[in-house]
Amino acid sequence: MTATLSKIIWLAFGVLWYVLRLHPERRSRQTPVRYSARGAREFALLGASLAGLGIVPCIYLAVHFPRFADYPVVPVLSYLGIVVDLACLWLFHRTHRDLGHNWSVSLDLRERHTLVTTGVYAMVRHPMYSGFWLMALAQVLLLPNWVAGPAGLIGFGILFFGRVRREEEMMIAAFGDEYRSYMRRTARIIPGIY
Ligand code: SAH
Repeated sequence: MTATLSKIIWLAFGVLWYVLRLHPERRSRQTPVRYSARGAREFALLGASLAGLGIVPCIYLAVHFPRFADYPVVPVLSYLGIVVDLACLWLFHRTHRDLGHNWSVSLDLRERHTLVTTGVYAMVRHPMYSGFWLMALAQVLLLPNWVAGPAGLIGFGILFFGRVRREEEMMIAAFGDEYRSYMRRTARIIPGIY
């Protein structure tokens, strides 16, 4: 395993993830929004996540900046990164299948929005965010650079902690006791832990 190969693998998983999102994106554009909590704050949070998971590592791959933060590739970490990224893709596939037309890239409620509590949503209430945490972890494992590697954890961390409570409040406003009891039964992103 070389640093170049490890970077190519990171990129390949990014492309696969993008392809997996094409159909949900299209469906989401076709499903009318009934209520939206988007605004400047959500825009900034999405920007932070995009920067950490996409822009910073892509700059690193394209122009090798910041070169001073490189460290030698550790093959076992890269192999672990592949396993984590495979788990991430599986989780994204499942969450999109389970959420169906209810999915949005931001905080929206769609026409005929239903509360999903089955499939992977029976295990935790934010499995797609679990998937993003896995994606950020795989980035650390696959990119041997102290800036580009952890950038995803920081960028997605800002989105997650800045959004999750507001999302749950929105779901409580929409589904009331049904969502409250769902919250009592499930953890946020790690079954039984958090
Ligand atoms: N937080 C969830 C969903 C992320 S997509 C996860 O990590 O899996 C964000 C949109 O999903 C929000 O706009 C919200 O309307 C919707 N959503 C979140 N949880 C949901 C659920 N259990 N059932 C239906 N829609 C949900």
